[in-house]
Amino acid sequence: MGASIEPAAVVTRFAPSPTGFLHIGGARTALFNFLFARHHGGRFLLRVEDTDRARSTDAAIEAILDGMRWLEFDWDGDVVYQFSRAARHAEVANTLLASGHAYRCYATPEEWEEMRAAPGAAKQPLRYDGRWRDRDPAEAPAGAPFVIRLKAPRDGETMIEDRVQGRVTVRNGELDDMILLRSDGTPTYMLAVVVDDHDMGVTHVIRGDDHLNNAFRQLALIRALGWPEPVYAHIPLIHGADGAKLSKRHGALGVDAYRDELGMLPEAVDNYLLRLGWGHGDQEIISRDEAVELFDLDGVGRSPARFDLKKLESVNAHYLRVADDARLAALVLPRLESSLGRPLPTDSLPMLQGIIPELKPRSKTLNELSNGSAFLFRTRPLTLDERAAKLLEGEGRRLLELVRHALADVPAWEAATLDAAVRALAEAQSVGLGKIAQPVRAALTGQTTSPGIFDVLLALGREESMGRIDDLLAPVPAGAAEDDTGTM
Ligand code: GLU
Repeated sequence: MGASIEPAAVVTRFAPSPTGFLHIGGARTALFNFLFARHHGGRFLLRVEDTDRARSTDAAIEAILDGMRWLEFDWDGDVVYQFSRAARHAEVANTLLASGHAYRCYATPEEWEEMRAAPGAAKQPLRYDGRWRDRDPAEAPAGAPFVIRLKAPRDGETMIEDRVQGRVTVRNGELDDMILLRSDGTPTYMLAVVVDDHDMGVTHVIRGDDHLNNAFRQLALIRALGWPEPVYAHIPLIHGADGAKLSKRHGALGVDAYRDELGMLPEAVDNYLLRLGWGHGDQEIISRDEAVELFDLDGVGRSPARFDLKKLESVNAHYLRVADDARLAALVLPRLESSLGRPLPTDSLPMLQGIIPELKPRSKTLNELSNGSAFLFRTRPLTLDERAAKLLEGEGRRLLELVRHALADVPAWEAATLDAAVRALAEAQSVGLGKIAQPVRAALTGQTTSPGIFDVLLALGREESMGRIDDLLAPVPAGAAEDDTGTM
């Protein structure tokens, strides 16, 4: 391409307000902007809208950037911080003042009272009546505070050809002259968005449809400035499974909670979010590369998508199955450490990795992988859960004793020899393999579910396996049992 100075044909941006975590709706907006830009070979920019100084926090900024990195929404260039551009915003407001597209408004609290008391006013949200719009600035009380307002069109209507919502029209008479600069000289949000989008070269504004009303005001401002108009795409918000707007009750958590608490993989969250409001036939599993290739605004639906945790889990289960075992082991290890409440020895990682292929097909989340592998790292003697303890009564205990003898004699601790020894025993006792596996599993894991019994024996190794079995066969001296902190 060379050192072209052509502006990119497509520039999108994600513009979160750092007043809380990166929630699932925001993440989906970011994803759509990211994919649209990548699909068109354009640029995807990130702007932190931190102009609300009272509500913006550094912790929220960190959480948002962290979430963006985790989901691999790689933005181009540096993050733009809106607050740092306040002087530029004010400059634009003053340009509009100079060109007659904006005016100083000196309305006092008393005048607002008058507007509030006007006939019919009580029934509607309070609107500015434009009383300083055409007034001679010379009438202004000397030294009185003022705001700068946009002289917006009053007649006719404004139409937006929204790429998702279709054609949307508003009568201009419904919009009052919005404030651009407050009396303390600070820019309003509406001004800041328009100026930043312009200066960043944004061509496509893709955001939640809660901003559709703002688009009409922003367009009036863009037109007053004579700037190019962006393409708008207002995407429907996400609803809960019950159809109501997504709230905390529905699991409207920060994306960090999907990672840390729910144990999701980022590619699963990406894939699920993509399908939430965008479709390509009924294909559910779509890789990042495919998504870049296929994504366009035409596939974005007009009705709100419903968030379904079960579906996310099933997508996650798919990505777990295809994920690399070493990567999964590294993700599971810290979870195990925190659920066991202690650091694990350095050789735990290969041990864990060895059992992952057995656990993957039956796990939906990293938490399940962690729970499923916890038996490996329990400390002897194991605390049995109730059902496991039951399996070791009477006949179960008798079989375990026989297994102990059979295993003690195996020449090598290998799948084939272990298998042969246990099979021979089953035959000699005329019982099914499953019957024998039950008490062995209970003794080795403390539970009634685990990977296949031979995988468990191999993963634990001879010494640990025999030790765990012996613990159960030999009566434990009083007071020697250590409480097991593992959670299952
Ligand atoms: N900062 C706004 C928000 O977080 C987004 C504004 C926009 O996308 O234009 O809802």
